[in-house]
Amino acid sequence: MSSVSVSQDESFSVDEPLLPVSGGDLTVPLVDGGHTPYVNLDYAASAPCLRAVAARVEALLPYSASVHRGAGYASQVCTALFESAREDVRRFIGGRAGDSVVFTRNTTDAVNLLAHCLDHVDTGRPGQGAGGAVVFDVEHHANLLPWQRRPGFRCVPAAPSMAESLAALAAELRARPAALVAVTGASNVPGEVPPIAEIAELAHRHGARLFVDAAQLAPHRRIDMAADGIDYLAFSGHKLYAPFGAGALVGRPDWLDAAPGYLAGGGAVREVTVAGVDWADGPARHEAGTPNLPGVVALAAACRELSALPADRLRRHEERLRGELVEGLTALEGVRVHRIWTDVQDAVGVVTFSLPGHDPALVSACLAAEHGIGVRAGRFCAHPLLARLGVPEGAVRASIGVGSTAADVRRLVGALADYLRSGPRWTYVRRDGQWVPTPDERRLPGWVENIVGRQRVPVGAGTPCGH
Ligand code: PMP
Repeated sequence: MSSVSVSQDESFSVDEPLLPVSGGDLTVPLVDGGHTPYVNLDYAASAPCLRAVAARVEALLPYSASVHRGAGYASQVCTALFESAREDVRRFIGGRAGDSVVFTRNTTDAVNLLAHCLDHVDTGRPGQGAGGAVVFDVEHHANLLPWQRRPGFRCVPAAPSMAESLAALAAELRARPAALVAVTGASNVPGEVPPIAEIAELAHRHGARLFVDAAQLAPHRRIDMAADGIDYLAFSGHKLYAPFGAGALVGRPDWLDAAPGYLAGGGAVREVTVAGVDWADGPARHEAGTPNLPGVVALAAACRELSALPADRLRRHEERLRGELVEGLTALEGVRVHRIWTDVQDAVGVVTFSLPGHDPALVSACLAAEHGIGVRAGRFCAHPLLARLGVPEGAVRASIGVGSTAADVRRLVGALADYLRSGPRWTYVRRDGQWVPTPDERRLPGWVENIVGRQRVPVGAGTPCGH
């Protein structure tokens, strides 16, 4: 088994999780009939819930009642928690005092909300209407498609270096002004972190605002919107150690208040007649319908837990593990670790790699079935980027977080070394576009079988898109 060296000069250990997560002690069945502790290296898709966050949701549930509408005590509790969550979120990402915090379903929803608002912005430039958004071709589809279908959209091909990429962006903005530059805070493929403050300065110099897709940045780094000049920012709870279903859009209220409600319905209005509507100002304008209270309370709890970590502790934990992962992967003959930019050093705990000549979907199915390791294979909802990286067929992604340890990294590197040496040790067949081990006697947990009946364990690896 290939081993990874742990540098001794750090004053903390990465042998233990940084924070306890639900499912941190999960045991999963293997295809050969054995069981093993689960290695979750798929944090970038959806992270496990922090135990402290799960406890907060548990504490909330007895009070489940209407938010904003009810006169009862439980309803007041829910309203107080829902509204105070805005401040937890704003503080977590260093928002300005006047910034709106709008709760959404996730990052995708938040970007679509901002794009809807952009349709109604008057940039004051004669003949240009709202003005479109400009992106690099490295974005997750969530930060590409909402802009792509609107007028004025432009996509700047990223150059091999960030310096050249920024020069190309500046040239594009000079040639034709834009309302908005939309950029990822950290790539969901190689984890690279663009220089956000520099991009903000560049955008502002050309009269554009900056939106940062922080779906991958927020779980890994302290963000300071105000200091970095970020006008709008979005992230998702399910990647930030909270359960699924809640996210946030944070930013300057003027554009948000210039557009009609994103969803038309109750709670978003001041006054309604049969002929028309007077929309509410502020976050409520775009939050029609009953909100996802447990999701929002969980998101706020996660923000508090991460904020309470000593400065840089999270970053250092992840940098150590990422370093060991990249070192372990590059030591394996034939493994290629993907990068976008040659001059971007900073990267979060998301690493994408290929084993040339090996189907990434088969590799990930084998890691799950034979080793109990969860990674992701596919194109990660970033098709243009995967094409640019020269792997249009997809790749494998391993991603870490607060529950990850050096042992997790060693298990992955060891399993890949084994795969490269011997190939899969089980038989796999292609079924419905996925690699499936056969035979496969693994059972779903008893309580799940009680609900869904006896089924084959769905491998689910190597979906055509992936997240
Ligand atoms: N942006 C990035 C960089 C992402 O990684 C993801 C999720 N993979 C999204 C946006 C979309 O997030 P969600 O699915 O929570 O809307």
